[in-house]
Amino acid sequence: MTIKQKKYCYFCGTELEERFTEGRIRKYCVRCAGPLYENPVPATCIIVADKNGKILLVKRSVEPKEGFWCLPGGFMELDETPEQGALRELKEETGLSGKIHLLLGVRTNPSPMYGTVYMTGYFIRQYSGKPVAGDDASDVRWFNIDELPEVAFESHRHFIDIYHSSNIKN
Ligand SMILES: [Zn+2]
Repeated sequence: MTIKQKKYCYFCGTELEERFTEGRIRKYCVRCAGPLYENPVPATCIIVADKNGKILLVKRSVEPKEGFWCLPGGFMELDETPEQGALRELKEETGLSGKIHLLLGVRTNPSPMYGTVYMTGYFIRQYSGKPVAGDDASDVRWFNIDELPEVAFESHRHFIDIYHSSNIKN
């Protein structure tokens, strides 16, 4: 996987160098006289289960992994909590409103855009509305846990496995 590299300082626009500083090779801006720290980017995803234990997946209409199925979710905005971000993405992608029941865990996932995504997984049992594909999704569907299509992201698969092997289903 090729990771997109930052070429210019996003504070002052100066072309970046690479320097060994603070224990590793980092992007460095000579004008700002310091490294540009690069960190995993926080995102969230949600397992929504219906009363039969089926879970909701959305079909991606954007890259990366366009055409693959994944859990509803996405990147956090600056002014929201992880829970707010997860519920916003759920609403945008599926039309559902919900109440977070449980934190399933955190996981990292490689990303061509950001290097590493720091993914938080939540579980929702109580929701309202009928699923309709929205932003970044071309389809939305309930799936039997034993009949899932290939899931786009390893971190999502991990949370599905946690859900599957747990006793939180009912
Ligand atoms: Zn700079």
